[in-house]
Amino acid sequence: MMIRCWGARGSISVSGKEYLKYGGDTTCIEVVSDSGDLIIIDAGTGIRALGNKLSLEKTRKIHLLLTHAHWDHLSGFPFFKPIYKKESEIKVYGPQTTQDSVRHILSKAMSAPYFPVELSDVSANITFHGMGNKDYNIGSVRITTIPLSHPNQGAGYRLEENGKSFVFLTDNELTHHHPTGCDYADYVNFAKGANLLFHDSEYTREDYKHTKGWGHSVYLDVLDLAMEAGVDALGLFHHNQDRFDDEVDRIEEDCRRIVAKKGSAMKVFAVATGMVIKL
Ligand SMILES: [Zn+2]
Ligand SMILES: [Zn+2]
Repeated sequence: MMIRCWGARGSISVSGKEYLKYGGDTTCIEVVSDSGDLIIIDAGTGIRALGNKLSLEKTRKIHLLLTHAHWDHLSGFPFFKPIYKKESEIKVYGPQTTQDSVRHILSKAMSAPYFPVELSDVSANITFHGMGNKDYNIGSVRITTIPLSHPNQGAGYRLEENGKSFVFLTDNELTHHHPTGCDYADYVNFAKGANLLFHDSEYTREDYKHTKGWGHSVYLDVLDLAMEAGVDALGLFHHNQDRFDDEVDRIEEDCRRIVAKKGSAMKVFAVATGMVIKL
């Protein structure tokens, strides 16, 4: 499968010369399976540019997986051009545990007085699939989910195809158990042996002194989890909105230093918008 990042920023989109390397758009990941199915994870502001590309390609069938309903994961949806085309067939999947049905969540994102177009007025054929924490298939991709440890809940995803696996866990606090979240050991199991793991790595230890309980992880804890799970590569994700490129670089360097010191062969990198990885 091919994985492309269209947004790796956390909480709110940002712009400016300090953010050029890792990008300012919020969560959106494009996955194209070996069999050609298009799976998009989250509709943060990054989905706008992806939608522009898809419009040119005339892509019709789109599977959209939502992790949860926080604004930074939904706010690009009204600007996703395929929803305004009647030829588009969009299946939206989400965890019902996000306190509401999947349709209702998107309806709220597109309703007066917050947005001038109602979800019911868009032309695309959109269907909604509240999957809870069930496993399911999209073409030849097996999808498994795990509840996130995050305020207002959500789902993490594991995508497997032809013996390759990509695990996506954002907005997940590893060292604080939110209601309905899981334990650290459960996340280790979920990520076990993955070829690629993207995990929320928003905070430094220093940040965490005043951000505990906010639903995000310290990158050092994520590094431990990834090594324990034996993943081949770790992508640090959900960069804090106030973290400039040079600071993200330093976090990446620190991770690489620790990995080398521990004699691990795991690759570590900070996920940047535009990055493409083939598994
Ligand atoms: Zn977020
Ligand atoms: Zn969130």
